Amino acid sequence: MAGPRRTILIIEDEPHIVMGLRDALEFEGFGAISAGKGKDGIALARAESPNAVILDLMLPDMNGYAVCEELRRSCPLLPIIMLTARSQETDKIRGLDAGADDYVTKPFSVNELIARMRAILRRAARPSAAPELVDIGDARVSFSSHTLKVGTTEHALSFYEVELLRLLVERVGQPVSREEILQKIWGLEAAPTNRTVDNFIVKLRKKIEKHPDKPVHILTVYGFGYKLAIPE
Ligand code: CA
Repeated sequence: MAGPRRTILIIEDEPHIVMGLRDALEFEGFGAISAGKGKDGIALARAESPNAVILDLMLPDMNGYAVCEELRRSCPLLPIIMLTARSQETDKIRGLDAGADDYVTKPFSVNELIARMRAILRRAARPSAAPELVDIGDARVSFSSHTLKVGTTEHALSFYEVELLRLLVERVGQPVSREEILQKIWGLEAAPTNRTVDNFIVKLRKKIEKHPDKPVHILTVYGFGYKLAIPE
């Protein structure tokens, strides 16, 4: 049974990459729309409400980080996968901090990119056993609005931050292995590395923990994974 056709927005200025992605997406049954400039991409995201965005870091008018932040502000729930030509870990972390949900380093395999996008879309459609609002220490997490509030400071949560937190909340007090996190959230086919999980844990700790280097809520279970502790 075919579901509604899902549309992917490609923001990239290199025509051969756009063409390759468009062909592959359409072959897989997705609709594809594209913009060669950051500003046009943002306008298209607002006008067309795509199901996900593939965003290049290097664009002629704006850098991808700025485009990502702008998309995050205007479309907080929109999954964003960033394409980066850089392999340095800091660039990836910066992309994730700007609100990207995942990244793929150029040159990338189109199949891997589509596998990651499917994982994102599958997770976005999954019903959850986690309650809508959860207090973790001083932080109040809202799973429907993808936000985390500490006092008067509100942080937007990206797609994977929400999903990771949701899994930990569903299993509060129990250790959850890295392998399980990778399998349930990223999907086996997407084959990300264990570092991916650790990077998201670092981001969540910065938002939730008073002292991110001495966490009391998102605990490391050495050689295994992570555990969420919410003391009474
Ligand atoms: Ca480019």
